[in-house]
Amino acid sequence: MARLVLTFLAFAGLLLSSCQVAGPAASTSGAWKKGYDDASAKYASKPGWNQAPSVPGKPVYAQTTYSSVSVSQPCVAMTFDDGPHPSNTPRLLDMLKQRNIKATFFVVGTNSQAYPQILRRMIAEGHEIANHTWTHANITTLSTDALRRELRDSADAITKATGVTPTLFRPPYGATTANIKALIKSEFGYPSIIWSVDPEDWKRPGVQVVADRLVAGARPGGILLAHDIHKPTIDAMPSALDRLLAKGFQFVTVSQLIALGQKGGATAP
Ligand SMILES: [Zn+2]
Repeated sequence: MARLVLTFLAFAGLLLSSCQVAGPAASTSGAWKKGYDDASAKYASKPGWNQAPSVPGKPVYAQTTYSSVSVSQPCVAMTFDDGPHPSNTPRLLDMLKQRNIKATFFVVGTNSQAYPQILRRMIAEGHEIANHTWTHANITTLSTDALRRELRDSADAITKATGVTPTLFRPPYGATTANIKALIKSEFGYPSIIWSVDPEDWKRPGVQVVADRLVAGARPGGILLAHDIHKPTIDAMPSALDRLLAKGFQFVTVSQLIALGQKGGATAP
């Protein structure tokens, strides 16, 4: 009997400790899937391509906004904004690759246009790329047409570079309104992704402080914010990532984290 209980506990622990999520089965038709297949085919032959990212069908998001996700597993999403940057982002990608960590990059359209090869590397290495406007505009100051242009142009640059169409959006500065979020969700299908941990790395408080704040703030289901355009932020990442791994956290992309929450049925509508 004791052995049976132990076996059950071990099995339950195994289930709870995994951040894997199975995608929805049959929603893979249409332009999104085609773009993904094209990008996969393009990179399948490139050196360094060793694993296709596990991308399920185009995700469906229940909520208009996410700052964190209710999950039962120790999963977090590390997010990097405002890049890609020509030297800092590749250095960060090396660090992530060494640790087999998948992250989400909220890229600025003008930078996507300038460094499309970095976007292609992100996709080839299993990361998620998301929309962060074309010019890093404060969208609360824009006309509706200008807002649409900011999002559309940024999405086009990502798709042109990688063949993958983004499905998530983060408002620059976190500045948005309920009306804007509703419009973006209905017209683009994007939920607005905020964060649960902000180390304020852009204020450059010091490498150790940035790492400490990320580690101290992390909770299961957390969305952690940082900026891959700042060198001290990249310098903080080995310590932050290794300490989070040592605490038992597993890293998933934001869309994977949301899928985990929806699978558990624990998120509010
Ligand atoms: Zn930003």
